[in-house]
Amino acid sequence: MSKKKLGLYIHIPFCARKCPYCDFYSICDLSLTSRYLTALTKQMEEYGRAMGGYEADTVYFGGGTPSLLTKGQWKELLEALHKNFSICETAEITVEANPASANLRLLKYLRKAGINRLSLGVQSFDDAELAAIGRLHSAADARNTLKDAKKAGFGNISIDLMYGLPGQTVADFARSLDEAVSLDIKHLSSYGLKVEPATPFGKMGESLVLPDEDTWCAMYELLVETCDKAGLLQYEISNFARPGFESRHNLKYWTLAEYLGLGPAAHSYLGGRRFAFARDLNIYCRAFEGGDDTGLLSEDYEAPASGAVADYIMLSLRLKSGLSTADFTRRFRKSFEELEGGRLDRYVAAGLMTHEDGRYAFTTKGFCVSNAVLAELIDLE
Ligand code: SF4
Repeated sequence: MSKKKLGLYIHIPFCARKCPYCDFYSICDLSLTSRYLTALTKQMEEYGRAMGGYEADTVYFGGGTPSLLTKGQWKELLEALHKNFSICETAEITVEANPASANLRLLKYLRKAGINRLSLGVQSFDDAELAAIGRLHSAADARNTLKDAKKAGFGNISIDLMYGLPGQTVADFARSLDEAVSLDIKHLSSYGLKVEPATPFGKMGESLVLPDEDTWCAMYELLVETCDKAGLLQYEISNFARPGFESRHNLKYWTLAEYLGLGPAAHSYLGGRRFAFARDLNIYCRAFEGGDDTGLLSEDYEAPASGAVADYIMLSLRLKSGLSTADFTRRFRKSFEELEGGRLDRYVAAGLMTHEDGRYAFTTKGFCVSNAVLAELIDLE
C-alpha cells in the first residue's frame, strides 16, 4: 500500500541577533543549540515511530536561522531525519539561509547531503535599508552568498525580498527588485513589512515612518509586473516562480495538505487535527528530555479533513488560481455561491476579483486590499 504524503517542517529557533520587526520564535542564546538538537532528535524518534504510514515529499528547515548550525550539527540532524522518517526520493528539501552566516563550506556540505533548495533571506540590496531593519548582513554579503550557493551546486534558489521598509520609495524598491530578478533565481518571495505589536518596531509608534498605503500598493503592483516580465510567474499573493519551481512545501499549507512541524512554535495539520508547540525552548526541551510536558502544546483541536470553511476560503484566495467553487462543493457539500450570496459581485465589478471558469480569484489590485475583503468573507460560515 502506498504511503500518505507529508510535508515536514523543522524549526531551528536561533538567531545571531533579533531583527526589530520579526515576530517568529527564535532566541539568541546559541549555547542552547546542543541541548535543543538533542531534544529535537528525541522528538523525531517519538513522532517518526507514529508516522509509519507517511512518506515526506517535502522537508523544510526554517527559523530562526538554520545556517547558524555547524557542519557537525547538520550531520547529526540529517542523520536523525533519515533514520526516523521515510523521505521520498524526489522530495523537495529546503534550508533557509542568512547571508550573515551561510558560507561556501557549509553550503557545499548541505548540497552534498541532499538539500536541493535554498531560501536566502536577502530582504534588500540597499545597505541603508538593511541597516534600518536591523539585518546583520550587507547587500555585498547577499551577492556573495548567492554566488557561493551556485558554486556549491544549488540550482533551485529562492530569494526573500521585503518592501514597505522605513523611508523606502517605489524607486528604491525597484532597484532591489531589478537586481533580484536579474540573478538567475528560480523563486522569489516578497512580503510587505507588517508591524507586529509585540516587536521593537511595534513599540515605536509614530516614530517609525513607513510608506503610506498608496506607495505600498504601488510597490506591490511593481513587484507583480517586474516578476511577470522576468518570467517569475505569480502563483500566490507574495510568491513568484519559474514554471515548475513553485515551493511544493508552502503549497501544502495553502491547499490544506497534511504537514507535521517539529520544534517550538511549529504548527501541524495532521489526521484532521491542528496542533502547535509552545513558543518556549525550555518547555520544549524539558518535554523531550523525558520530563514534564506541561504546556508543550499551545493549541490542539480537531479540524475536519476537508478543512474548515474559513481556512479554505482564506488559503485558496491567497493563490493566484483562486477558489474553485466545484472543489468547495465537493469538500463542504454546499454551494459557495449560496454561501457568499452575491457579496463578491461588487468586488468583481470593482476590478478587485475575477469570476471565470468556476473560480473566484483576486486581481493584483485586489491582492493589495485582500485583508479587508477576506475579513468579510470569513464570517460567512
Ligand atoms: S534573522 Fe530571520 S528569524 Fe531571525 S530575527 Fe531576523 S527575521 Fe527573524
